[in-house]
Amino acid sequence: MTHSSALKKEKQLRLARNTSKSRKIINIVRKNTRELQNYFISNKSQSTSNEQFTYKTRTFTGPSCQKLTDFLKQKGTDDNNNIHDYYQIIHNSFLLQLMKQTVCASCKLIWNGDMSVAKREGLYCSLVFICCCSHEIKFNTSKQCLNTSKRDINVRIFAGFGHQGLVKLCAILNVPLPTDEDHFSDTLDYLLPTFESYKLRSMKNTVEEACKKSNERKITVSGDGTWQKRGFSSLHGVVEVLSNGPTSKVIDLERLSKKCSICTGLLSIKYSDPKKYSEIKNKHQCEVNHVGSSASMKVAGIHRLFARSKMLYNVKYAHYIGDGDAKVFPKLISDSPYEDVSITKIEDVNHFSKKMLHRLQKIA
Ligand SMILES: [Zn+2]
Ligand SMILES: [Zn+2]
Repeated sequence: MTHSSALKKEKQLRLARNTSKSRKIINIVRKNTRELQNYFISNKSQSTSNEQFTYKTRTFTGPSCQKLTDFLKQKGTDDNNNIHDYYQIIHNSFLLQLMKQTVCASCKLIWNGDMSVAKREGLYCSLVFICCCSHEIKFNTSKQCLNTSKRDINVRIFAGFGHQGLVKLCAILNVPLPTDEDHFSDTLDYLLPTFESYKLRSMKNTVEEACKKSNERKITVSGDGTWQKRGFSSLHGVVEVLSNGPTSKVIDLERLSKKCSICTGLLSIKYSDPKKYSEIKNKHQCEVNHVGSSASMKVAGIHRLFARSKMLYNVKYAHYIGDGDAKVFPKLISDSPYEDVSITKIEDVNHFSKKMLHRLQKIA
């Protein structure tokens, strides 16, 4: 066999393999699409239990925290293996285009009609597609939380980015703002314990994953910190340790504050009402948990996270991937958080090469 014919045969084999692979993928997508259709598309006559519920007709009382915790517990177990547990941002016109590629179940012709929003609750909405033969298909954009009247998307929007972030995102996407600021912060207070418990569970799972990988209760972590303001004068900062690997996750984090808003506010009544001043001062949960410069927040914070790893997770962070910060590792060595483990350092290649480049540029 000549060299060229061998190459040709190999190419044909490769093509055949690719075709069978593509066929498999298409079958999986078909199956998943059918499941999704069954899940999301329902006839309008099949109403859900909370069909009459809207923000407008019902004053906000907030879903019970327990119910939400139950929901998140359920989610934690059920959706872990659900590869479709995420959202897509789709422009309306593409949904219409999609519908125009289907056959209407009623008139058996290519679907030709229009869509409208039947109901809107926060970021959730119920869409209705009406064919020219008057056949209606109802489409929900988010599922309902277990045992509550809340929609999944309206719980998720409270996690992480604040009301201002939501305002910006909604403005960019041309979506009506789901909630005002007061309502947002009230709901957030309500949901916070649930988010906290979910966060702790997630971090604990990450630690167990890392232990499984390293086959012992000593793991490799990287650490980093960020400040509310740049320039080493920030009053607040956050430090975190992360697991090692291509999909590293946060294992533990700590907020460090040099100032407390309640203490500052109390100064206004320090002399006019000293009794009330000392009463509130003694009772309040002070936010100050760092004394020293803003630059030292990272060192102190990461050391604190190392020191509590044994108590929190019964695990020791034996290897530390440094990010080029010269002070963190010497602190971990001079004031070792563990009696029987001496922490070793692995230098992060990205930071190392960045520093190397700067040095070389200075010489050149
Ligand atoms: Zn039709
Ligand atoms: Zn305070």
